Amino acid sequence: MNKLILIFAAALAISCGNNKKEEKSDMQIGTKVEQKTPVATDEAVDDAVANITITGNDQMKFDRNEIRVKAGQKVKLTLKHVGTMDKAVMGHNWALLTKDADVATVGQATAETTDHDKMPDSVKDQIIVHTKMLGGGESDTIEFDAPAPGTYTFMCTFPGHYALMQGKFIVE
Ligand code: ZN
Repeated sequence: MNKLILIFAAALAISCGNNKKEEKSDMQIGTKVEQKTPVATDEAVDDAVANITITGNDQMKFDRNEIRVKAGQKVKLTLKHVGTMDKAVMGHNWALLTKDADVATVGQATAETTDHDKMPDSVKDQIIVHTKMLGGGESDTIEFDAPAPGTYTFMCTFPGHYALMQGKFIVE
């Protein structure tokens, strides 16, 4: 194998001086073919998977108040805490509530817990999925199947945050 490559390289070096133009056009064709494949793959993935990124900051805010996905999609959601504060004082998570959940009830129940990664039994049934509680600079990615079409609420369950940190999760 190595010998073959050496011979090929030598042949290339010899032909280089004479055929510079031809070589260039060969390389361009090669590049075009390489680019086509990844683009096609990305499009296929996009249909099946909704890649969502949402951030939370030290001002107690998400960077978006609406997320839209399609029914049947797998949702790959990443929450990034783009602030610098500790999770004990400015923790953020992303929790998706069931359609009939009451935001205030979930907000009050989760505010009374000390382990913010464990949803209280009283409201567990009202939370479809949630990320870890994060401090500044941290991120967490979760994957789940988009629930049935409809409008859901997402929120941060850190004590007192849901008033500012909530939004709509719409499944079309
Ligand atoms: Zn928060």
